Amino acid sequence: MKYMKCETLIYLGIDCGATTSKVGGVDCAGEPLSMELRQSDTNGTAGPGAIIAGWLEGAEGFLRAHGLDWQNVGGIGLAIPGPYLGYGVLGRQPNLPATLEGWHFLDELRQAVAVSAGRSIPIETANDGQLAGVPEARAIQRTSPGSVLMLAPGSGLGCSFVHSDGRVFGGDHQAGVILCHMPAPYERLGLPRFRCGCGRDWGCIEAYTSISGLSQLLEHVLPRYPHHELAQSPAPSKSKVLSLRGRAQQGDPLALEIFDTQARAMGMAVAAGCMAYDPAHVVIGGGLMDRTSTTPEFRARYLAGIRESASEMLWVSVDHLTFHEARFGDLSQAIGAALMVLQAVSTEG
Ligand SMILES: [Zn+2]
Repeated sequence: MKYMKCETLIYLGIDCGATTSKVGGVDCAGEPLSMELRQSDTNGTAGPGAIIAGWLEGAEGFLRAHGLDWQNVGGIGLAIPGPYLGYGVLGRQPNLPATLEGWHFLDELRQAVAVSAGRSIPIETANDGQLAGVPEARAIQRTSPGSVLMLAPGSGLGCSFVHSDGRVFGGDHQAGVILCHMPAPYERLGLPRFRCGCGRDWGCIEAYTSISGLSQLLEHVLPRYPHHELAQSPAPSKSKVLSLRGRAQQGDPLALEIFDTQARAMGMAVAAGCMAYDPAHVVIGGGLMDRTSTTPEFRARYLAGIRESASEMLWVSVDHLTFHEARFGDLSQAIGAALMVLQAVSTEG
């Protein structure tokens, strides 16, 4: 394929989440074009055609907002949750409709982009959680060499490992670094086996570290706080759970205990990841590190809990690791996807 001169091109990243899709972009040097979060409904229940139309609409909106059009696009990276049946073919995804299993999303996106752009554009895809670490690693590796393990708890637990040369580790089935669905040492946490959204009941790490298992953790802790407002409240479990982050920052002992427990569980995940990959850097992202909705004190307490717990299980000293707060927030996967396709095109070209 013939590529246009690099300085005139930008690289788009589309992040397809279960509920919303986001678009980001980088220039040919890998610098983000914007840190503004642009998102739209993924529209998963409306079927593949509607999903792809939404991605194209998001991409074209991003281009218009930057005074660009398809002529300026050198490649597109697509971040999408796995598992996959093969490269570019969706497997059974717990958070998207079952009818999408077997969907050749990459071929369909390539065809749709070729029609809109009037030419074929390089498009690559990878697991969304894996791609989140790419921009974080790029920012760290500018001043400090070494590979990067990233864990980002949100609705689930995103996990990523990026080599010291900036390439993301995908695995032979694009299913590498799935620490989230490994069993947690729940007995060390003094907790029962929690159910996981993936359908397994062996106590996946994700259930102890992310929003997905927070209602089970609250149910377990609440009997020890019989006079707590949440023990009396008729509010639905989801709204109780979503109130915890704010409560913890106001010093609520129940909420603090819950996030201290999540920090301990996350430290165990960090230790497992570090024993497998031996990184120099660990990045913690997700909603508990979100600078717009958490205080520095809250983040420091959470990170200190992770570090202390990791140090109990690590094979090497925790002093070998440098911990970082994530910088790219909800844009990390879209920017990571854009960087991935830029790397692929640069290697090929
Ligand atoms: Zn699981």
